[in-house]
Amino acid sequence: MVKITVFDGSSTIGGNKIYLEEGDEAVFLDFGMNFARYGEFFQEFLSERDTRGIHDLIHLGMIPRISPYRRDLIPSDLDTSSFRKLAPKAVLLSHAHLDHCGNISLLDRSIPVVASGVTAAILKGMRDTGASGMGSEVAYISTRVPHDDYGGLVLASGRNLPYMGRDFYCTDCAEAILEFMSQKPGQGSRNSKKLEPGKIRDLSQLRLHWGVEAYPVDHSIYGATAYVLKGETTVAYTGDMRLSGRNRELTRKFVQGARSADVLVCEGTRVGRAHDSDVTEDEVMRSCLAAAEGSGKLTVADFSARNFERLDMFIEIAGRTGRRLVITAKDAYLINAIECADGSHRLDSGAIGIYREMSPAERKWESEVVRPKWGNAYVAYDEISRAPGDYILCFSLFDMKHLLDIKPDGGSYIYSSSEAFSEEQEIDFRRLKAWLDRFGFSAYGFHMEGEEGAEVPRFEKGYHASGHLSADEIVGVIKEIGPGKIVPVHTEDPGWFREQFGDRVVLPEEGKTIDA
Ligand SMILES: [Zn+2]
Repeated sequence: MVKITVFDGSSTIGGNKIYLEEGDEAVFLDFGMNFARYGEFFQEFLSERDTRGIHDLIHLGMIPRISPYRRDLIPSDLDTSSFRKLAPKAVLLSHAHLDHCGNISLLDRSIPVVASGVTAAILKGMRDTGASGMGSEVAYISTRVPHDDYGGLVLASGRNLPYMGRDFYCTDCAEAILEFMSQKPGQGSRNSKKLEPGKIRDLSQLRLHWGVEAYPVDHSIYGATAYVLKGETTVAYTGDMRLSGRNRELTRKFVQGARSADVLVCEGTRVGRAHDSDVTEDEVMRSCLAAAEGSGKLTVADFSARNFERLDMFIEIAGRTGRRLVITAKDAYLINAIECADGSHRLDSGAIGIYREMSPAERKWESEVVRPKWGNAYVAYDEISRAPGDYILCFSLFDMKHLLDIKPDGGSYIYSSSEAFSEEQEIDFRRLKAWLDRFGFSAYGFHMEGEEGAEVPRFEKGYHASGHLSADEIVGVIKEIGPGKIVPVHTEDPGWFREQFGDRVVLPEEGKTIDA
């Protein structure tokens, strides 16, 4: 009999930490960060203190009181002796969104991660280019040591210690990824910290009680994977998935593979959402193409940096409108990461340019990887100024400052990303609107409503498709799989599942073990 404990993500969207035990063995399905909980106490300029390790997160109830956290993150005043002792053999990671992977960085490094090659590469690429801090240390960690002056209360990165890579078991292991995972840009210089890479192996080499089947599925990030674990009890886990994208056939294969599972752990992101809209990626393509076609001026496309499927769509739109797509150097580095894993060659075609930022010093990952590979693809601000109608720029609010150099005279801004769901994000839209007004841009995908100064964004249908199953699709998926039991996660409305499927639904309570 399998035991399932949902430590987090039972009544929020994200933060999934699902513990599965059978016989003497156990694994975690995802170990994500719970944004809803973080948001109760933290915002951009108020976050957990790295120097106190996991102290703040434990005391604010943002991570569960369990045992296998990194020892170097436990300060001397945090007593973990009463924490529930778990022994997961691995984390089976569904995809590289932070609400599924974010808290892996806190876990003891002896716990390997099972993931697709693309997911591993994205995590490594994000770590190479991103901010430091313990929250981002999934692919490799910076070991903390107690600071001399504070008796173990204060933890600091060990200057002379190398970065330590985490071990991965890839569900599909490409040769090029091994090299990518073992190199950290900048480590060649004399004084820099070196990376001691983790082991990257094929999933077949992981000895587990369960037979693990990994299914690539369609979601708003490439590399998403659903799992079927075959033990005495067969457990299927959806991760996040959809049936409205161009790779929906992948999701269907998982549904077939999961048929008659004893237990289905199922996401329910959209079941409780009032403003649910069924937009497909094909409709998004049509809306965005029309917006780009209608403008003879500069077009800016704003979509999530990790939504590579949307990037592929804008490459197509650029081709069809006779424009060149220009991305940031950071995007190029992440594309390089993906290419190591899936063998694609988006940047080699010459169809994509890379925006040359006005900065005297290049970052290491840029000077050592992006520039040597694609130095010819760089596009400077003045080239765009001379013929703005020849370009689609992949920028977001945070790149608006570059418009001060390009100085466009009007243009189109296509917002093709998720709706704002917090007040802070709404304020960001006011800022975005100010930038667009300043340069005379028309906005597609959203508009502002309300009083001057207190305006809120309203999102227009057709410019963004959800990464998740709709309520009707979940009903269809569950009927086809026909599981004995259903455990809803990643939802604000677990009760919806009960209404649909009655007693087969086991509503998980946080930290309480279910015998399934
Ligand atoms: Zn996701």
